[in-house]
Amino acid sequence: METVYTVAQLRETRGALLRLRWSGLGHRPTVGLVATMGALHAGHSSLLARMAGECDVRLASIFVNPRQFGSADDLATYPRTLEADLAMCAAEGVDLVFVPEAGDLYPGGFDTTVCGGQLASRWEGAARPGHFDGVLTVIAKLLNICGPDRAYFGEKDFQQLRLVERMSFDLEFQSDIVACPIVREGDGLALSSRNRLLTAAQRQFAGHIHRALHEVADAFAAGERDAQVLVARGGRVLEGWTADGLSVDYFAVVDPATLEPRELAEDGDRAIIALRLGETRLIDNMALGSV
Ligand code: AMP
Repeated sequence: METVYTVAQLRETRGALLRLRWSGLGHRPTVGLVATMGALHAGHSSLLARMAGECDVRLASIFVNPRQFGSADDLATYPRTLEADLAMCAAEGVDLVFVPEAGDLYPGGFDTTVCGGQLASRWEGAARPGHFDGVLTVIAKLLNICGPDRAYFGEKDFQQLRLVERMSFDLEFQSDIVACPIVREGDGLALSSRNRLLTAAQRQFAGHIHRALHEVADAFAAGERDAQVLVARGGRVLEGWTADGLSVDYFAVVDPATLEPRELAEDGDRAIIALRLGETRLIDNMALGSV
């Protein structure tokens, strides 16, 4: 595995790898990309493993993208574990890791932003103004720099996944966007780089997020369709924890394609939730019904 730090190095090494694989395989190799912000965990490794099973040349990027952070504090406290991240990439069969500096991706004079439309306006977009502009801009750059045939994204960040799919289609990117299921801890907490910022008490509570989503899915399976009633059922699981620094940003049942809120839930809809535990913000989601 090779690690490169600039766009120029990435291009050169990617080209050399492609030529090498091409002569070995006798056909054009397929290129995969997993874009991450590092602090890698089993959620990331599931994406890397899927890429390894499907692509001949496997690229990963590790970049804590300053443009998608609202506050300098959140950016400063974001966990960074580069050495362990590189070891995980090597173990998962990655060929080339791209670890750019912010100044290389956004040199002086950089003046372009990719913005989502309707899809970006709700939920995370409303709670974190500018967040998706930063996400889409960096993903657009990474897709152009790395030129993957397949780029892998987790359903953990469901709205981000939908936005990247939309951007890729609308702007005619050549990469297939591959959706990967959420990987969870034993108690159901969705793996996240931010989980390591939780105190022991917050971590213990955090398992309730999954239970609350499950409550919504169970009520849906039992025949309830009123979205307000469904969310209220889930909300009861979280009651009583506000004293411990819990505040819910949103908890809703949405159309899985448009992310518009539902009044009456349908098969395949998503229950989505975002909450704060002290300083740490967590998001999760779950499909309803037989999907
Ligand atoms: P991040 O490093 O948080 O930007 O995440 C990089 C990619 O990993 C994104 O596509 C995420 O959706 C995905 N990801 C993060 N956590 C999980 C998880 N628990 N399960 C599946 N995918 C995940």
